[in-house]
Amino acid sequence: MSPNIAKKQRFIGKTAIITGAGSGIGRATAIQMAREGANVALFDLVNERTSVLEQKLNKLRKDCALAIDVDTSDAERMEEAVRRTIEHFGSLDVVFANAGINGAVGPIEELSLSDWERTMSVNLTGTFLTLKYTIPHLKDKGKGSIIITSSINGNTRFTSFGWSPYSTTKAGQVAFAKMAALELAKFKIRVNVICPGAISTNIDETTEFNEDVEEIVIPIEFPEGAQPLADGPGKAENVADLVSFLASDESIHITGAQIVIDGAESLLS
Ligand code: NAD
Repeated sequence: MSPNIAKKQRFIGKTAIITGAGSGIGRATAIQMAREGANVALFDLVNERTSVLEQKLNKLRKDCALAIDVDTSDAERMEEAVRRTIEHFGSLDVVFANAGINGAVGPIEELSLSDWERTMSVNLTGTFLTLKYTIPHLKDKGKGSIIITSSINGNTRFTSFGWSPYSTTKAGQVAFAKMAALELAKFKIRVNVICPGAISTNIDETTEFNEDVEEIVIPIEFPEGAQPLADGPGKAENVADLVSFLASDESIHITGAQIVIDGAESLLS
């Protein structure tokens, strides 16, 4: 987090739901928003990781964090997790639909139906359910900000061979975000979608490579400096800065925007 942002207190009295909060981009965003005064509901599969973060944040500010063990692709559990959040914190202002997996990577004919459906269900259905169950609470509040984590893959980059399920979900999230932005504008609920390039997180643990992927790769020689601005992957905190801006009233006139955050990586590939 940059020092001038650290001094801001943009979220006092606000509550945010952050999915995928136990690691990477979600975790960095939860820490930043809590430091700036937010109450944060930490939605993640891995209860232990989110519990540790919950304790850390509650030491930072008493009772500001609530960890909830939930699979974002499970409708019943998501509905219950949102209900618990409202019961605990009273209302909702910000939703960060961020949980995602890389999933199965391989030639299309080698992917099983369940490979395909798993990536769809976590990345795309999970995003749908996150919005479905939180929108009524943002409407109750009379305004709100939703941010969805997509990717440069499927939007500005198509050279990650074998990543067709992942890229399809990431393109779908952008269309969904723009549809939602128009649908919700009259309720003063903003919806923006971010497209990160490579960011140092634990996401690679979720990649399931099919060895036949080598057969479909078209060799591409990348120029030196694949992330020209940073000379390497970005940090989760860089993305958290962007999400916090979109969550705050500093971006009050921004909705339906698709924002690439990749250090110019996708301009080269
Ligand atoms: P990460 O693996 O470090 O964190 C993702 C978190 O989501 C994990 O804690 C994981 O347990 C959780 N999660 C996964 N499936 C879930 C489910 N069904 N229900 C609840 N929680 C679930 O990865 P990250 O890089 O921080 O990923 C966050 C988002 O950023 C993802 O949507 C990913 O596609 C996107 N993204 C990441 C990169 C990158 O290079 N890291 C680039 C572009 C987009």
